[in-house]
Amino acid sequence: EAKLSRTRSKFRDNLLDFMLGNKPINADLLEELESQLIMADVGIEATARVMSVLNRQVSRSEVGDSTALRQALQLELVKLLTAVEQPLEIPDSDSPFVILVVGVNGSGKTTTIGKLAKQLQDGGKSVMLAAGDTFRAAAVEQLQTWGERNNVPVISQGSGADSASVIFDAVQSAKARGIDVLIADTAGRLHTQNNLMEELQKVKRVIGKLDPTAPHETLIVLDGGTGQNALNQARQFHETMQLTGMVVTKLDGTAKGGVIFAIAEHLGLPIRFIGVGEKVEDLEVFEAERYVNALVS
Ligand code: GDP
Repeated sequence: EAKLSRTRSKFRDNLLDFMLGNKPINADLLEELESQLIMADVGIEATARVMSVLNRQVSRSEVGDSTALRQALQLELVKLLTAVEQPLEIPDSDSPFVILVVGVNGSGKTTTIGKLAKQLQDGGKSVMLAAGDTFRAAAVEQLQTWGERNNVPVISQGSGADSASVIFDAVQSAKARGIDVLIADTAGRLHTQNNLMEELQKVKRVIGKLDPTAPHETLIVLDGGTGQNALNQARQFHETMQLTGMVVTKLDGTAKGGVIFAIAEHLGLPIRFIGVGEKVEDLEVFEAERYVNALVS
């Protein structure tokens, strides 16, 4: 929770300080709370959902003081996130579990892949990486350096290579070597958005040729500091790629810890992990209650 402390303090400064005081619970206060939630990027719909419950509870005198209001708010926020609290499960299998990682440049994709690889490795899985972001030259190097340092094999073909071909090779190699989990990086930007989506679809097709059940997880990495943009990106990727999970990064240094509620409300996709820093250990399995407690209490 320490890593989330900056988010927490901002969230609380913005949202909850006025509730910690002993203000009377009335329509003004509820209206104030509503606008604070929206300003914290919780989103119009998620805010409306929470507020309708709180308004009802207040009108029935079920919530009479600021402590009770905070508890009620906390409960409703947890409810919003419980539906998307679905940790990634990797079954034991003879063939590699293939995780395809997508997202725009700068979202934290490469860093997340490194963190995830380490976490899986620490959990006893053998891991291989595919340097499928062949468009951004530094991405291949970044992944290779990371792999060398952590003893994780990285399949690459240098920048400018065909992404689908790199990932095809990697799946073959992972099968041959009995690897448990293959994590494939992909491009986060091409000359046009259409190019990118076509390339990603091709990657998916090619993986499916080697294993019709793969990719087993198509994970989008979203920068939690980008608010509404993150939502729009996720929608667009979901349309072409049928995402199965999300990672929300940079929740350590942002005032926008609230965006996760909007993401949950709008996309309803499992949030597998959250990124709470730049270090390798700064990737946490997403837990609704823990997240809300870190923000609110
Ligand atoms: P990519 O272009 O999507 O592959 O993004 P990178 O993995 O290169 O990350 C972009 C920047 O964000 C780097 O400086 C990372 O160290 C940083 N970053 C990634 N995840 C997090 C996070 O959870 N918290 C913070 N504070 N920084 C992060």
